[in-house]
Amino acid sequence: MTVCERLRNPCGWRAGAKQISVDAMLPLVVVPILAVIAAQAFLCTVAVFLVTPVFVYYLHHNFLRFLLRTKFFLMWTITSVLMMMLVFEISVVPLLEILPEENLVFMVCVVGGMWCGYKTKLNADASIQENAGVVDVLELGDGSGELCATCRRRIPPKAHHCRLCQTCILNREYHCKWLDCCVGSSNLRWYVSCLFFSAIAFIYGSNLTMTSVCHPFILIGTILLPDDCSDVYHQLDIALCFVSALYSLFVGLVLFCYLIYHLWLLYIGTTSNERRLDMKNQSDYRMLNVSQLFCCKT
Ligand SMILES: [Zn+2]
Ligand SMILES: [Zn+2]
Repeated sequence: MTVCERLRNPCGWRAGAKQISVDAMLPLVVVPILAVIAAQAFLCTVAVFLVTPVFVYYLHHNFLRFLLRTKFFLMWTITSVLMMMLVFEISVVPLLEILPEENLVFMVCVVGGMWCGYKTKLNADASIQENAGVVDVLELGDGSGELCATCRRRIPPKAHHCRLCQTCILNREYHCKWLDCCVGSSNLRWYVSCLFFSAIAFIYGSNLTMTSVCHPFILIGTILLPDDCSDVYHQLDIALCFVSALYSLFVGLVLFCYLIYHLWLLYIGTTSNERRLDMKNQSDYRMLNVSQLFCCKT
């Protein structure tokens, strides 16, 4: 915690000295350094892609989870999106392999994803403010809701408490660390739209970059796929494009899986929180059965 001494923002002194925490500033330094290290050689790329998740998990497990609301993951998201967009516009587009309409589709998806992500967070913050303002109404309740032990008030049915937001969220899915807000009925539509646009932007951007820096082959019509990427490490900027494309592809595929998962949850009319609780009960039940099978021999 002593490492997390506060830095003062030199521009914010007029507005009453805004403070920026070290954990929030860390991704701004770490993400570009990791990208440059990964761009040195193929083995460095593999090492960075394997070590980074372990490093982030270590940071989270030993330091970040003790801070109530860390902006580390939100800043990681912002830095990654900005870095991938800048690499694309500064290094990939000048290679003159990208058509203007391809660049336009990519930028529309990036801006769409950023706007939906911003609205997700804005709506979550607004709903927390709203919740704080209607304590009396919730206290009275309609008699059908349960009492939240932490908030010490009656909550509507299907609302669940979030330890990080310190309030109860209606139809809570989970607390999204990467956007630093809860996903619930107030912002689910924006969140799913954010997943949709971001998944397209990342996967499409990755494909455009890979086919520009590697030797491509034609799949169908104008759709290309990367073929031979063995000579990307000869130039640092080309290697950076390749590393950024790999990272985009990985993030895009994860977001796509989340998108499919949320569409499926919407289709069956439940939330991930409720499903988790159901599965927990079921696994407890199963474990009980297993323990009865293996431990409680008669
Ligand atoms: Zn609560
Ligand atoms: Zn939350």
